[in-house]
Amino acid sequence: MTGEDVVEEAIETAARLVVDSKHVVALVGAGHSVESGIPPFRGPDGLWTKYGEPDMLGYERFTRDPKKWWEEMSDSSGPMRELIDALAQAKPNPGHYALAELEQMGQLQHIITQNIDNLHQQAGSIAITEIHGSRVKLRCIGCNTRWPVDDFAIEELPPRCPECGGIVKTDTVMFGEPIPRDALEECIRQSGMCDCMLLVGTSGVVYPAAGFPQDVKMKGGRLIEFNLNETALTPLCDIVLRAPTGTSLPTLVQCVRQLTAA
Ligand SMILES: [Zn+2]
Repeated sequence: MTGEDVVEEAIETAARLVVDSKHVVALVGAGHSVESGIPPFRGPDGLWTKYGEPDMLGYERFTRDPKKWWEEMSDSSGPMRELIDALAQAKPNPGHYALAELEQMGQLQHIITQNIDNLHQQAGSIAITEIHGSRVKLRCIGCNTRWPVDDFAIEELPPRCPECGGIVKTDTVMFGEPIPRDALEECIRQSGMCDCMLLVGTSGVVYPAAGFPQDVKMKGGRLIEFNLNETALTPLCDIVLRAPTGTSLPTLVQCVRQLTAA
């Protein structure tokens, strides 16, 4: 058997598992958006590999002087500029559309994404928790109310929440910033119901997200990994698909469609 046949057979097994499961959740990481032109943080072409890992003081700097942070944001350079430019041009890839289709078919109940790129929404997915926030939203650090960036009129720096008067920041979770409680609680709720988790392009080293598959596994749920590379979670996985997610996910959807049509 060739390597391709092995992947093909594993995808068929994965499709059967998805169809037989009650609550399927996809945990998505940066590897999934690489095919959309967004550089990952880690690995050979990663932003941190190129520019060095940022310190964990981003959020502390923000809370110390939010006005200064807002003033400086407009003329950012280096890794952030490269990331912002790539994000602005990115389009969903076939893997994003495959996940949206799986949801429409009733075979995927939720997406937990670590990506801030808004590409799942652009592809048509609906049930999404963005654990690291979204690049197209602002958020109040007091009450967690969120607004689309374009709908929020910034009249002063830092902007203030019309609901509670709290300070408003970009929704994207900064280094050193706690995960917003509402997002974290929804992830825990979804993982609690999940009996089959798709690990899509996630390196499995960033917590708390990396802990969700471990919880699912501990309760007897199944894990399917879609990733080009071996990850910290590979040893826990029931099925491993070593292929680009933009290829393996559409094939999975095809198999699921055949199984459910039969
Ligand atoms: Zn507020």
